Amino acid sequence: MIRPPGFRAAAFETLAVDDARHDPAARRAVATELGIGSDWAYLHQVHGATVIEATAPGLLGDADGIVTTSRGLPLVVATADCLPIVIEGEGSIGVAHAGWRGLAMGIIPAVLSAMADLGDRPLRAAIGPGIGPCCYEVGPEVAERFPGFVSTTSWGTTSIDLAAAAADQLAGLDVWTSGRCTRTDPELRSYRGGDLVHRQVAVGWLP
Ligand SMILES: [Zn+2]
Repeated sequence: MIRPPGFRAAAFETLAVDDARHDPAARRAVATELGIGSDWAYLHQVHGATVIEATAPGLLGDADGIVTTSRGLPLVVATADCLPIVIEGEGSIGVAHAGWRGLAMGIIPAVLSAMADLGDRPLRAAIGPGIGPCCYEVGPEVAERFPGFVSTTSWGTTSIDLAAAAADQLAGLDVWTSGRCTRTDPELRSYRGGDLVHRQVAVGWLP
């Protein structure tokens, strides 16, 4: 488990054994390690920019961001190359699932404004592990959407730096970035690495 320093209640799973959103034993193991309940608010993630306010645990619907002011309610997104992001405010918490489509569509500003709509001010954001610029090969149609964040893979083709693009959209907040690449880190699951089953969960809650 990765616990970003300086954050109240944000965590990124490593060594995922399944998809803890759906596997009760995996969920209990994560909950026990974090000292939180095992009833979580989560999403059917669709690579968009829709944000849902959670007032109770369970599957909230088709979306890629969750916000809440409910204390002790874990908000969860699951990823295996896309970026998991936890945003802490004074009196609210938000999580996001962001791949290139979500970033291009504005999932990050959507979560920030949903927190503002709850009357809160976002303070800091933790960007968890995702596929790094070392491995995230993209075509020109994707690269052209991220001017300033185009990079090169370790094998010399065009890639983008998703985490840097996300950090740019979080300008003004205290931003922590994991920097670990899901494609090459043996503790992390990668869809592009051929793992179509395991997902690591990112959890944020308001203590
Ligand atoms: Zn990599």
